Amino acid sequence: MSEHDITDWQLATLAVRAGQERTAEGEHAEPIFPTSSYVFGSAAEAAARFSGEQPGNIYSRFTNPTVRTFEQRLAAMEGGERCVATSSGMAAILSTCLGLLNQGDHIVSSQSIFGSTVVLFDQHLSRFGIETTFVAQDDVQAWADAIRPETRLLFLETPSNPLTEIADIRKLAELAHQNDCLLVVDNCFCTPILQRPLELGADIVIHSATKYLDGQGRCVGGAVVGSEQLVGEGVYGFLRTAGPTMSAFNAWVFLKGLETLKVRIAAHCQSALTLAQWLEQQVQVERVYYPGLPSHPQHELAIRQMSAAGGIVSFVLKGGKDAAWRLIDSTRLLSITANLGDTKTTITHPATTTHGRMTPEARQAAGIDDGLIRISVGLEDIDDIIRDLSTGLG
Ligand SMILES: *Cc1c(COP(=O)(O)O)cnc(C)c1O
Repeated sequence: MSEHDITDWQLATLAVRAGQERTAEGEHAEPIFPTSSYVFGSAAEAAARFSGEQPGNIYSRFTNPTVRTFEQRLAAMEGGERCVATSSGMAAILSTCLGLLNQGDHIVSSQSIFGSTVVLFDQHLSRFGIETTFVAQDDVQAWADAIRPETRLLFLETPSNPLTEIADIRKLAELAHQNDCLLVVDNCFCTPILQRPLELGADIVIHSATKYLDGQGRCVGGAVVGSEQLVGEGVYGFLRTAGPTMSAFNAWVFLKGLETLKVRIAAHCQSALTLAQWLEQQVQVERVYYPGLPSHPQHELAIRQMSAAGGIVSFVLKGGKDAAWRLIDSTRLLSITANLGDTKTTITHPATTTHGRMTPEARQAAGIDDGLIRISVGLEDIDDIIRDLSTGLG
């Protein structure tokens, strides 16, 4: 199958077909290869594999056929030369940083990124001499001002979690390249169905496959996509030695998830827009964050950069934390869990969960209000979701 010319396939076709190589058994669905190592025909063949003279499998920390199918499929969908799968989304970010950066290098990052990424940059990479400056996602001048001679990497997530702020990928890619930096985009909220950062000039795309790529809340995993040089050498070079590789089973779950990604994302987007419009009408709601609403301050950039606005809706309730917890505790259908991108709608209080490890000052700077609630809109009937929320608001 991979022998075929896939360059003119559309995204939905790539999602179903790319990367599959049938074995001699003629299986229709992709097989799982749960094996830690691979056998060689002879001592000489083993030596040739280990020296790199002969390509092929050695050990599943390095390569695994099921993992490779997932990697090739996601690479094709993002339009990248190479994808490397990782054990989690955080492992994808860690492997990118440790594979491409050196002691003394500097990162400029959006301040509106996933809570664990902030902690990774601020408290862990800093111990190894890699410093990070955090800037406002939507302020291109602030990014430019933060760049130093030793800056190597610009990092962002768009739309951001949980405030759905949009970063202008094209502009920030230009800024990065003028300064010999790489632009890394965490594309978790959009997936390649809604936004393809490499086409907009980004150098590396990060995924938490845990979210929409699986889409059914089953497995933890991640991926890095980009050029052969950056990802195939830099990131993979670190990963195969350090070891946060994806398991064959998880790769299989994710690659089957990719097959339904386009139809799932379309449904998530449609329900999220309906919910956001409804929330805007509620007197108890102070503010709604959803890029698909004309009231979103970056609505125009969002619809230029993304083909739809995604499945995450956040809103601030009047009444702060008490009101937020009361609404969350009143729901019967929605799941109180921090995961997102699931078929099941989830509801979270970011200030005390995903962003709870940040200092109150950092949280305030990032705009995480105590009354903020994040909803990842699932695939249940939207009328049932709205009914569940209106009970708690009423
Ligand atoms: C969840 C998430 C991550 C981390 O992924 P894990 O799979 O949980 O390690 C990174 N970035 C974003 C935007 C996320 O939502």
